[in-house]
Amino acid sequence: MTSEMHQIPRPTHHPDADLLARFAAGTLEDGPALIVATHLDFCPACRGQARKWEALGGALLDGLPPAIMAPDALDHALDLIGAAPEERSPHRASDDLALPPALRRQRMTSWRFIAPGIRGRAVQVDPAQGYKALLFRVQAGMSIPMHGHRGPEFTCVIDGAFSDSLGRFGPGDMIAVDDGVDHEPMVSRQDGDCLCLIAVRGRLRLHSLLGRLAQPFVGL
Ligand SMILES: [Zn+2]
Repeated sequence: MTSEMHQIPRPTHHPDADLLARFAAGTLEDGPALIVATHLDFCPACRGQARKWEALGGALLDGLPPAIMAPDALDHALDLIGAAPEERSPHRASDDLALPPALRRQRMTSWRFIAPGIRGRAVQVDPAQGYKALLFRVQAGMSIPMHGHRGPEFTCVIDGAFSDSLGRFGPGDMIAVDDGVDHEPMVSRQDGDCLCLIAVRGRLRLHSLLGRLAQPFVGL
């Protein structure tokens, strides 16, 4: 028991209060909600905050004491997020033990080659809500092509780490980037391969040949 806090590094980049409140209220779109749920798998502090928002929202909506609303309300929200749309399921990732619980229940395509050192798989989210979700595995020493956004981009690191102009991000760290920001996440050799989940709205604006190669696959 006492060793847990020393063995598991805690995330240092978290969703802001607005994102957590919208997640807890169930009003966050499918893509970013999956990113927040993934972060929560890593982050006891934000889980606690989300439960507080959940309890508060339930109490406000129904006039019930928070203690009655809290216990399964978050699970219910997570179940809703995990519920897949009606599309066929080409692949379920439950055999991939490295994935956090929020991702294990999502339907995904198989891993696809995107570019040397970069593989990706699409994670199914409700397309009606405007986001696409992608799992990237980037080899140590590689970068995701410099790109900007026409809409927000949400990322959660699952394994390894990357750095960009905004900082260094390790397991569980969550990043929300607004449109208009250009960045090029780099995976250093010391950090090993990086596995990260990304949700984007709108088309990515890719600036490199590598990016144009990646674009047909991700369907953005
Ligand atoms: Zn957190």
